Amino acid sequence: MSSVSLPVAVIGAGPVGLAAAAHLARYRQPFIVLEAGAEAGATVREWGHVRMFSPWRYNMDRASRELLENSGWTPPDLNSLATGADLVDHYVAPLASHPSLAPHIRFNARVSAIGRKDFDKVRTKGRDEQPFEIRLESGATVDARAVIDATGTWTRPNPAASGGVPVPGERELSDRISYGIPDVLGRERSVYAGKRVLVVGSGHSAFNVVLDLLTLMAGAPGTDLTWVMRRDNLDSVWGGGSADALEARGALGQRARRAVEGGRLRVLTPYRIRSIARSEAGLAVTGVIHDDEVQIGVDRIIVCTGFRPDLQMLQEVRLSTDPWLECSTALGPLIDPNLHSCGTVRPHGARELAHPEKDFFVVGMKSYGRAPTFLLATGFEQARSVVALLAGDVAAAERVELELPETGVCSTTNLDGGQGCCGDPAGAIAPLQGVAADADCCGGPAPAGADACCADDAAAKSAGESGCGCHAPERVLIRIGSPAKS
Ligand SMILES: Cc1cc2nc3c(=O)[nH]c(=O)nc-3n(C[C@H](O)[C@H](O)[C@H](O)COP(=O)(O)OP(=O)(O)OC[C@H]3O[C@@H](n4cnc5c(N)ncnc54)[C@H](O)[C@@H]3O)c2cc1C
Repeated sequence: MSSVSLPVAVIGAGPVGLAAAAHLARYRQPFIVLEAGAEAGATVREWGHVRMFSPWRYNMDRASRELLENSGWTPPDLNSLATGADLVDHYVAPLASHPSLAPHIRFNARVSAIGRKDFDKVRTKGRDEQPFEIRLESGATVDARAVIDATGTWTRPNPAASGGVPVPGERELSDRISYGIPDVLGRERSVYAGKRVLVVGSGHSAFNVVLDLLTLMAGAPGTDLTWVMRRDNLDSVWGGGSADALEARGALGQRARRAVEGGRLRVLTPYRIRSIARSEAGLAVTGVIHDDEVQIGVDRIIVCTGFRPDLQMLQEVRLSTDPWLECSTALGPLIDPNLHSCGTVRPHGARELAHPEKDFFVVGMKSYGRAPTFLLATGFEQARSVVALLAGDVAAAERVELELPETGVCSTTNLDGGQGCCGDPAGAIAPLQGVAADADCCGGPAPAGADACCADDAAAKSAGESGCGCHAPERVLIRIGSPAKS
């Protein structure tokens, strides 16, 4: 059976899935969007109360904006910061309603499995010409000539334990445990007001939750907050501060730091959770700090330890994934948090996102697998490049059109024995267009004469650690990469 006349299937109508749809519309390619939720941006809506750290100008795809602007839509103030709900109401929902996209989107269409029609994973001859078969939870099937998986990772949170495997009691007591960023000041206020709450994790989600809980504590007597992190050293937790090109992202970490330094909550670190059990008073969390057992009594736990991709639905797809990040193999070295303390990302597109399964791509948040540093701007560029390739516009697919704000924690070109800070073999990867090629890396340059790649690395080594982690020697960096924009 030939697949040439079939549509491209985009799975997920989040901001990146819709960007792919907008680019497909622009190339006049037939497409269908399958969205699990009842509306576009269904998962963004779940964190709708959270203020984003990147301003509007980074949060809208170019082809999508063009569609909207041609239909009388008024763009938001490009320098202001939206909440997740604003993003849906002022951008994602109008985009999904646009006449070029709306007829092609199916809501309440959760995909449960993807494969090649009549070809199991083992069969090779003729595979590339065979249509994809997309099974929905309802039992219905959609055939497609190509698949763009843009389903995000929001519904697959990591567990509370540092080791990634749920601790005893975690599943059984799930009615007392939340993952992600619950709306503790709004929808879920009554669940947390006056309660003893434990927050687990040390990223931006944890900062948001902790700061909201501190606000709640001020207005709801009896609310008590404990924050546990697995990190040994809190200095590396707070981000780039004023050096972060995304001001709000830098400020978030600094607000959390001030709250901790001001003694406004109890912080235990490096704390490793071993078990959660029901107690007479609520929950008994048992963990260790170094070799000492430390018990914490709480009523509720909020776990903010990141997310992982759903690979279950891709079991019949021929994937080549990074062994630990679970993103595409070529993308792994570019975004690996073991290599990059910063989250600065190299330009990348269809090439780095390709899998052995022809015409199958993962884009958006899910494309990063377990790496925590995804930005919408990256996803829009991925969508543009992947759609260009599927439309046969190889030159556009190869061209990199990405300009990203730096975190201020680490940058691209600190030279150390011929290797750039983030594992960039000198000169192999051009600095991002529009990004200053300064020599700051992880807190700035290393002191003269120090056997270190940067200030944080020097500090870590003088404290007896192996380093700050921005060079992971066992990782071989492979650059398949696209040329930098000229
Ligand atoms: C709290 C928070 C704040 C963030 N702030 C920023 C920020 O300021 N700036 C920034 O650049 N990035 C930010 N991000 C990161 C990232 O940009 C967002 O997570 C963004 O929503 C990712 O877009 P996406 O389209 O890849 O995935 P999502 O927005 O998660 O969309 C995925 C879609 O797929 C659907 N879906 C899932 N599974 C299936 C299935 N099996 N079948 C069919 N449909 C399915 C979902 O319902 C959803 O609509 C933030 C993330 C979070 C969690």
